[in-house]
Amino acid sequence: MIQDIAPHVLRNQYIPGKEITDTSRVFCFKDRDFLTRDLGEACFELPERREFASEGPYTYLFTVDSQDYFLLVSDGEVPAGCEFINIRALRQRFLAPRELVFASYTAWQLFRWYRDNTFCGTCGSRTGLSETERAIICPECGRIIYPRIIPAVIVGVTRGDEIVLTRYANRPIHYNALVAGFTEIGETFEDTVRREVKEELGLNVKNIRYYKSQPWAIVDDLLAGFYCDVDGDPTIHLDDGELASGTWTKREDIELQPDDFSLTNEMMLMFKLGREPR
Ligand SMILES: [Zn+2]
Repeated sequence: MIQDIAPHVLRNQYIPGKEITDTSRVFCFKDRDFLTRDLGEACFELPERREFASEGPYTYLFTVDSQDYFLLVSDGEVPAGCEFINIRALRQRFLAPRELVFASYTAWQLFRWYRDNTFCGTCGSRTGLSETERAIICPECGRIIYPRIIPAVIVGVTRGDEIVLTRYANRPIHYNALVAGFTEIGETFEDTVRREVKEELGLNVKNIRYYKSQPWAIVDDLLAGFYCDVDGDPTIHLDDGELASGTWTKREDIELQPDDFSLTNEMMLMFKLGREPR
């Protein structure tokens, strides 16, 4: 999955007073685009601090191994050999280094969190950054804003050697997926699993069992993957506003996604291999 970058380690803990150096790498964002340098063979790197004339501000993000990364909001400057690419196109264009692909999505989530909390949602005042932790503080009303993560579930609904594969309507995704949905306020993950499967497929489920989780920064998600068994009538009644198709599919007939980034793909693979939790 996208976060599986071992032996590399991304450390997202905030380091108070962390200072930028000439060789710090910079995620420079302009809306949905950020600066990359194409190294060929689907490989890329980020520019270093010394390549920018801009005085910043540069905001500390995280480290990957011993390399530190900072955030810069673009003023239009483009260092030699660099170009802006769209964060959503990253996955189609660059595959390596794998830890930098994961770091890019993580940086994108942090960039939007900093950008979207420039003003306090409670009193409307301009906010500032905490000097001691990764938090945004309103100097007027004292509100403290922490990064927001949105929980959601991925669900493999099974019946013996079959699983329900879906395709989404109205989304630019043209390969197989599983049932998925956001957790509502007041729900447990298990409630979300039961509700989403009922809404999308019209099925009741039982024996809900956890598999793994995954940060999915492009939409601020933390995904929790579950398998479950259909309970009673297996006839699918599709929510055709949400899904283009939902089909009982045998293990050997599962077609995987074109890359191995997603929890959904790993869950389809585990079922295909007969290695899902029972
Ligand atoms: Zn406020």
